[in-house]
Amino acid sequence: MTSANILIVENESVVARNLEARLKRLDYSVQTIVSTAEEAITKTKEFRPDLVLMDIKLNGNGDGVEAAEEIQKNMGIPVVYVTAHTDEDTMQRAKITEPFGYIHKPVDIRELRNTIELALYRHEMVGNLSESEARFRDLLGTLPNIAVQGYDRKGIIQFWNRASEEMFGYSNEEVKGKNFTDLIIPEEEREGVRTSIEEKLATGRSTTPTEQWFQRKDGLRLSAYTNYLCITHENGEPEIFDIEVDMTIFKNAQKSLMERERLFRSLTENVSIGVYRYVPGPNGKFIEANPAALSLFGYENKNEFLGLKADDLFVHEDERIRFDEKRRKDGFVKNVEITLKRKSGEHFIGSVSAVSVIDSDNNVRYYDGIIEDITERKKAELEQQQSLSLLNATLESTADGILVADGKGDMVKFNRQFAELWKIPEEILSSRGEKKALEFVLTQLKDPDGFLKKVMELYDTPEKESFDVLEFRDGRIIERYSKPQTIEDRIVGRVWSFRDVTDRMTSKKELELEKVYFEALFHNAPEAVVLAENDGRIRRINEEFTRIFGWSNQEVKGKFVEDIIARGDHRSSAREITLKAAKGEIESIEAVRFHKDGTEIPVSIIGSPIFIGEGQVGVYAIYRDIREWNRASKERESLNAELRSKNDELQQVVYVTSHDLRSPLVNIKGFGQELEKSMGTLVGLLGEATIPEENKHMINILMRDEIPEALGYINSSIEKIESLLNGLLRISRLGTEVIDIQELDMNSLVTKVAENFEYRLTNKEIRLDIGELPMCMGDQNKVDQVFSNLLDNAVKYLDPIRPGEIRITGKQDDGRVLFSVSDNGIGIPTEHQEKIFQLFHRIDKISIEGEGLGLTVVRKILERNGGKIWVESEPGAGSTFFVSLPPSPPTASSPLLSSLPME
Ligand code: ADP
Repeated sequence: MTSANILIVENESVVARNLEARLKRLDYSVQTIVSTAEEAITKTKEFRPDLVLMDIKLNGNGDGVEAAEEIQKNMGIPVVYVTAHTDEDTMQRAKITEPFGYIHKPVDIRELRNTIELALYRHEMVGNLSESEARFRDLLGTLPNIAVQGYDRKGIIQFWNRASEEMFGYSNEEVKGKNFTDLIIPEEEREGVRTSIEEKLATGRSTTPTEQWFQRKDGLRLSAYTNYLCITHENGEPEIFDIEVDMTIFKNAQKSLMERERLFRSLTENVSIGVYRYVPGPNGKFIEANPAALSLFGYENKNEFLGLKADDLFVHEDERIRFDEKRRKDGFVKNVEITLKRKSGEHFIGSVSAVSVIDSDNNVRYYDGIIEDITERKKAELEQQQSLSLLNATLESTADGILVADGKGDMVKFNRQFAELWKIPEEILSSRGEKKALEFVLTQLKDPDGFLKKVMELYDTPEKESFDVLEFRDGRIIERYSKPQTIEDRIVGRVWSFRDVTDRMTSKKELELEKVYFEALFHNAPEAVVLAENDGRIRRINEEFTRIFGWSNQEVKGKFVEDIIARGDHRSSAREITLKAAKGEIESIEAVRFHKDGTEIPVSIIGSPIFIGEGQVGVYAIYRDIREWNRASKERESLNAELRSKNDELQQVVYVTSHDLRSPLVNIKGFGQELEKSMGTLVGLLGEATIPEENKHMINILMRDEIPEALGYINSSIEKIESLLNGLLRISRLGTEVIDIQELDMNSLVTKVAENFEYRLTNKEIRLDIGELPMCMGDQNKVDQVFSNLLDNAVKYLDPIRPGEIRITGKQDDGRVLFSVSDNGIGIPTEHQEKIFQLFHRIDKISIEGEGLGLTVVRKILERNGGKIWVESEPGAGSTFFVSLPPSPPTASSPLLSSLPME
């Protein structure tokens, strides 16, 4: 045994020394000797002796009992009291401190050693004991959520762990020395708890926890499961440990669990979605199903359903396999659409979601699923898709451009026609931005501001419908219609539709124009016109009708035309015209009709059907009052007859004159020659005769100059008269000559004519061009004469100051054949261009020889050959004579004929 270190607390130094000496003898070492309680505490703390010998009665503040309590309790060092005549009270106090022994003064060395050794031994024992107790307390102290309180038999709290602090709201400090029952037991329960302390002490510990109400510092009550444990300290005093677990949390948890359970139940019982739990595998079966699931599959009896296997409910094997694979692989399936079977055998489409529930060994215990009958939804979806596709097809097949806009800047829908009509590029379309599109289209309009204003106005008044006509810069006319788009009376956007009415508008305008023309023509026509239904009932008549027949439009409307203007026998023939027209035939006759006042009016009538497209819609008749015409034509006839006889007369006169004048002319000519001869004889005779000198000169002048000159004039005049007579004769004969009209090859005809001029042309160095000439109809000799004459004039009237150029051409022209003979000669003054075709008209009568007859003859010939002649000329530059003749009839080789369809 090691010698223990001892601290002596003794206020009597003699006793202290004595004690020290004895202790040393007993091989203890004395660390120090102190005399007051305070010193005792500080030195003990400083030296940590193995034992303190403490005089109970000390000087100064505090006595040995207090110091001992402090040392033993707080420092764990055993104290042995040294007592003399100690009073009862002090002894009692000392006892409570549970000292390790007492030594009585005067100190007996044996008692000293025994007491010290016992004290040290006990301390060691108690030390071990309190160590395990301390560990036990530590453990209790740190228990989470389990409140532990220790109290003695009187209920004074000795121990208070952290969980107790949290549970009851009192700190460890606060509960020191307080009564457990008073502190945390509700008033009404206290009595019971106090009595139970006795029971607790008697039983030691409880086997079953009981529920007990407690009260927190803040006054709140809480329910806790409580249990207890009694231990007895080595001083024999018991301590009761109460252990509580706060049940409020559990209760709340349980309550919410129950609520959840209730909620879950009411949900699954009342929802329309089927909820089930299924154990998969070979012995698979439903172990739970809500009413909705039962009714979904058509089962009334739950047990019947629970007996089913999932496989019984699938219609398609492949769907079942896919479903199982997916559930096994991923542990769940979500919204899988499956065709399922009801008890009745009827099929429906279910949307199924299921999730596997796995146990700790990773085996699928069951899976929970929900199932919904989506047959109707599918049907509705299909219907929706159908109506959507119908809508799209309608949108795309309409001729109108359509746009649906939400009014917030988005183009929700539009068709191809809309994009094409406005020529909107793809990037704007795909952006769906209405503003961009609006900006783009504005430039195409004649009045962009007006359009924009209207659009804004409509977006400001979403309920408004509106119609407008837009004029495009490129001439198009578009009708714009706009209407709000509503869903259940709520306006969600605006529909715009655009229709290109350019054609309609143009044809409408044209139609209006035609109507105006027709009306003008109808009313101002110089003929009487009646429009009637197919049955002949009059629709309307024009002014001329009223003027001729005396009836007004109102009077005749709806009546038959034959009842109005035909009388007696004429009626049926009038009806006949109407009937023919009604059958689609055109009738043209002259007949008699009657004025309202009964006057007979000879008329020419045309009756004709009126068609619109293929269908006949009515008839019309045109009446011309031919009284005036009849009178005029009678007059004309008599005038013609007169003219003819006058003409004949004239021809006769011309013929007789030209013919009969010839014989006296021949006489004059003969006698003239006779006179000439006589003059020669006379001149000879006179030469031999003696003539007085004064007469000789005069006779010479007469005989040599005057008389021969006069005779010369007589001769040339006779020649002139002769040629005039010849001309007149030719002209007069022209009207009676027989002509032979035939097809003429003009190329060869004109070439032959030109050949006769060869000498003159070469001589005068004149150039003659002849173009390709078309065939025509005419009398060969006469046409030959025409071109000879024209070519002769062209040569004759060339301008000597420039080389002559003559050109002959020909072409088909408007159903005729047109030839031209042009020269670069002296030309013809405008005022003469018509006159040169008159008989004997010449411009220059002296310098160039001619009769002034050629062109007159030419014109006459052409008139008889169905031709014409005229001239265009520029004086000083040249002239062109145009000759028009009938064309030759088409032949099989003619391109015109061969282009006709031949059957
Ligand atoms: P003639 O030639 O015998 O005088 P025509 O009847 O042939 O008679 O012609 C009448 C007149 O027309 C001519 O005198 C002449 O003044 C004018 N004339 C005819 N042909 C031409 C021509 N090619 N260029 C200029 N003047 C012409």
